[in-house]
Amino acid sequence: MSVVSSIQSDVDLSSYNTFGLAAKAKYFAELKHAEDIAELITWACTKKLSWMVIGGGSNLLLLEDFSGLVIVNQIRGIQVAENDECYIIKAAAGEDWHQFVQWTIEQGMPGLENLALIPGTVGASPVQNIGAYGIELADVCSEVEFYSLQTNSMQILSNKQCEFAYRHSIFKAQLKDQVIISKVTFKLSKSWAAKREYGGLKLLAEDVSAQAVFDEVCKMRISKLPDPKHLGNAGSFFKNPLVSQEHLSSLLSRYPEMPNYQADKGQAKLAAGWLIDKLGLKGFSIGGAAVHQDQALVLVNKANAQAEDFLALCRHIRQQVWQTFDVLLEPEVRFIKDTGEIEPNAVLGKPNEAE
Ligand SMILES: Cc1cc2nc3c(=O)[nH]c(=O)nc-3n(C[C@H](O)[C@H](O)[C@H](O)COP(=O)(O)OP(=O)(O)OC[C@H]3O[C@@H](n4cnc5c(N)ncnc54)[C@H](O)[C@@H]3O)c2cc1C
Repeated sequence: MSVVSSIQSDVDLSSYNTFGLAAKAKYFAELKHAEDIAELITWACTKKLSWMVIGGGSNLLLLEDFSGLVIVNQIRGIQVAENDECYIIKAAAGEDWHQFVQWTIEQGMPGLENLALIPGTVGASPVQNIGAYGIELADVCSEVEFYSLQTNSMQILSNKQCEFAYRHSIFKAQLKDQVIISKVTFKLSKSWAAKREYGGLKLLAEDVSAQAVFDEVCKMRISKLPDPKHLGNAGSFFKNPLVSQEHLSSLLSRYPEMPNYQADKGQAKLAAGWLIDKLGLKGFSIGGAAVHQDQALVLVNKANAQAEDFLALCRHIRQQVWQTFDVLLEPEVRFIKDTGEIEPNAVLGKPNEAE
């Protein structure tokens, strides 16, 4: 059966986004084979429809119904090769990220344990260069394979060509809306050493096993972050902001306890959650959208929230943070309108100095 004949109409996306927002897809297809990508894209282009690929929907804010074709990536499969130095693992884009990480640990191939329990799919992991507990996808990914709309063929980019940066990659820039990622290749070194520099991992023994790191990461994440199955959310709503050293010095003179980290290009990174918490916004809500009671960086769907509630809450937080700290918070979550992604500032507007 051709994949086009399986396209459905007017599909409710509430179970395909972790905020649980009730937007609809005009057209909807499940993608199970990379060979079907071209057919789906051709179908959408012929009908002059926009299209969007989603994995687990754990980084999306659906602002309204989608008027084109939503493609849910469900391509599965894992292949392993090895040489003297490393394991080379090719994972299909539709594999569940956490289950994949767990599988590598069970197979005795450590290296991904710090990235345990991040929701979503393997295929989305390079898009925003997922990261947690001192590791980023960029540290372990060697290649990304995708269907390119520019060439109408499968292409491969090396790690360097992916232009990974903090929550960023070429897939959010020049190649935005131009690719469907089908496979990610990981290189995991056989001379593994635990990465224990971050947070609670510092307390682990030097000779800790990868399984123990994995267990600890899972324990910490479960205790800190709400489970989207029970309370709709998309993890960190905002990126940690980068500021100049001068700006940091001025902030530290007013808030000596403010957490900060050195970042690239001489900049400093602030903790967005700390800024929001400092303003007493934990638990603050607008409509059904709320700042989580314990995690200021996480916005949750407390009670049948509408996209407008999240926008209003997001604006309020940005305004408060801007007025107090002179810092502009940028959403990490992707904002999706009827024909595709939009720049958050286009709907949020800039915070107002005078307010
Ligand atoms: C509770 C919770 C905790 C989280 N913790 C973290 C964390 O610690 N670190 C972190 O980095 N993120 C975190 N996130 C965010 C999220 O899990 C990641 O961004 C994840 O990679 C999104 O995967 P997904 O499959 O759900 O992508 P989706 O939300 O479905 O899509 C995200 C973007 O990627 C694009 N995309 C998805 N699949 C493909 C593909 N195959 N080809 C091309 N483009 C594609 C989509 O079009 C969209 O623009 C968290 C989210 C939640 C809900």
